[in-house]
Amino acid sequence: MERIDAHIHFDSEHPAYAEQLAEWNMKFLNTIGGVEHPEWRARRAEPYARLAAAYPERFGWVTSFDLPRFGDPEYAERCIAGLEADFARGAVGCKIWKSFGLGFRDPEGRHVLVDHPILEPILSFLERSGKTLLIHIADPIGGWQPLGPENLTSNFYRKHPDKYAYGNPAFPAHEALIASRDRIVERHPKLRVVGAHLGSLEFDASELARRFERYPNFAVDTSGLARALALGLQDRGLVRRICIEFQDRLLFGSDQHAHPQDAESAEARAKAMSSIREGHAAAFAYYESDGRVKLREHEVQGLGLPEPVLRKLYVENARRWYPGL
Ligand SMILES: [Zn+2]
Repeated sequence: MERIDAHIHFDSEHPAYAEQLAEWNMKFLNTIGGVEHPEWRARRAEPYARLAAAYPERFGWVTSFDLPRFGDPEYAERCIAGLEADFARGAVGCKIWKSFGLGFRDPEGRHVLVDHPILEPILSFLERSGKTLLIHIADPIGGWQPLGPENLTSNFYRKHPDKYAYGNPAFPAHEALIASRDRIVERHPKLRVVGAHLGSLEFDASELARRFERYPNFAVDTSGLARALALGLQDRGLVRRICIEFQDRLLFGSDQHAHPQDAESAEARAKAMSSIREGHAAAFAYYESDGRVKLREHEVQGLGLPEPVLRKLYVENARRWYPGL
């Protein structure tokens, strides 16, 4: 079956990788993220743009823009010019990442959420130009919950207490971040918005369904095995019904980060690719199989989605939500 990974970070240009993707009948949509520094954006964009130009059948890309510079009256204009240039060289969308709400602050020290007026001209530009907004907002819900066996992200937050929002008034509430995204989806009804990582609503499929109902211009990618696991731990019948009812709104993605540019030998390249394949295989099994499947250290019941729904999940939705991909 043909498949598109609609959320990946893969920047290696050796021809062997494109060949491997052809063998797998697969295409990667590279997405830029975490561009806190202007130089990072350009550095990440270049290999993605070159890959898409060299192997349009195998690679596409989603660009981004620099963080706001308050007090620079030309900030939005400059971002729009950059986006126009990237769209001209094949980018099929623009990504906003979680620094908005988690990290980036205005000169008064307040969190800048995605519905901040400084981003408004950029969103209007995307809406006018018919390009898709990929939006990663918030972290997994575990960051706002007590640690313990119920919390799938306990280990991560034990290691990174600075990122742990629970009980820390310096962080906005998870609901506040989701609400800021809801507001821009609502405010721009012609803007196609794809929420990364199941829209950060992986913990409650019904909440996700409510957004699909309310916003016809909203879809999500399934990226991150941890997010798939959060789905897998919910009522299987309910999740399956929602995936079928909203079969036009789910795009398969893996969020794997692979930078095998140093893999100079054929063996090293094969190893890099087989690790990506392993990540994919676990997710494929969850969506396709009716039996028990392993997601990370858990075993859950596969969704066993019907073939036409899988074709939308893997290919058709990505092409519809990212025209030109
Ligand atoms: Zn990502």
